[in-house]
Amino acid sequence: MDYSFIINEWGEEREHYMNAVSPPIFQTVNFAFPTLADMREAISRENELPMYTRGTNPTIDMLNKKMAALEKTEAALSFASGSAAVAAAVMANVSAGDHIVCVEKPYSWTGKLLRQYLTRFGVETTFVDGKDPHNYVRAMKPKTRMFFLESPNSFTFEMQDVPAVTKLAKEHGMLTLIDNSYASPYNFNPAEWGVDIVIHAATKYISGHSDSVAGVVCGTKEMMDRLFYSELMAIGGVISPFNAWLLIRGLRTLEIRMQRVAETGMKVASWLAGQPQVRKVYYPFLSDSPDRALADKMLRNPTGQFSIELNTDEVEKVERFCNSLKRFLLSVSWGGYESLIFPALAISGPHPFSPSLIRFYTGLEDAGVLIADLKQALEQV
Ligand SMILES: *Cc1c(COP(=O)(O)O)cnc(C)c1O
Repeated sequence: MDYSFIINEWGEEREHYMNAVSPPIFQTVNFAFPTLADMREAISRENELPMYTRGTNPTIDMLNKKMAALEKTEAALSFASGSAAVAAAVMANVSAGDHIVCVEKPYSWTGKLLRQYLTRFGVETTFVDGKDPHNYVRAMKPKTRMFFLESPNSFTFEMQDVPAVTKLAKEHGMLTLIDNSYASPYNFNPAEWGVDIVIHAATKYISGHSDSVAGVVCGTKEMMDRLFYSELMAIGGVISPFNAWLLIRGLRTLEIRMQRVAETGMKVASWLAGQPQVRKVYYPFLSDSPDRALADKMLRNPTGQFSIELNTDEVEKVERFCNSLKRFLLSVSWGGYESLIFPALAISGPHPFSPSLIRFYTGLEDAGVLIADLKQALEQV
């Protein structure tokens, strides 16, 4: 299936809704049946037939079909947030006494889920440097069930050799999960490289407009059916039909947004790498990045997220730089139309980052405008 067919046509049955080009939002809780036999049938196949919107809803189903096709998996399920998707995918595959191996420095709430929440239920996690795929195997215990990857990870964007990890995982009977939010399905399809479960914070690139929080889990039909009848239905972190519709709309432009972000991200990160006030740029696509070979191997294009370290340890200078930027909003998240910075200095509590570390996201603005803004702000340092 080609990409434009998936985003424009796949999963849409226009003849069922008066050939409306833009699909309707099935903003309903429940669905009624002509006969008791139909109702019984729907209740027995709740994962396939619309009956109650915590389970199946046609707008959400359309999104799920497109996401599965984009990730080249058999099926997908959407959730109320990326974190709900991560938690559901992990919890569906562990029991008390089990052990997980996860890349170090994953997304903050993934770390908290594994480090604080799941330990209450007797599930332990070991965090490893993902640069050496064998570190996953070295950390295994008798009851290890899964390897959790995020490639590149959050904030410092270290890549993992995904096919090397999945090969080792298969040899040891481990399930592999990956948070693929960074790349989006446009740039990376981990299932093609042997990953079992692919997770998205759809809040970011899939939505693309900073207006909806959502998550998606992609995998085999068998795995998604199991997830449906456990975490999705029992914990109920379901996406709303309206947000599913916003994500379908976001997907229409995923390709052109990702192309723009690739171009702007590369221009801005390369420019910053050449400035004396910048000590370091964390961006796997730069020619001198230690992760460049892995980025070339797995990611089709650059993206808009990178971090820099300013060439100073003076908190005041870092603050002055951040406060001087006019075209970058001081904000969390990324993946929308607007450019953002998230300085490590904004994080309260302990964290592993240098105080001069600033995460960037370049949105859809013109690269020249962003560079001019960075230039004036760097002159303040
Ligand atoms: C934002 C993010 C999440 C969490 O998504 P929410 O929709 O905010 O719950 C998970 N993983 C990564 C890599 C993220 O950037």
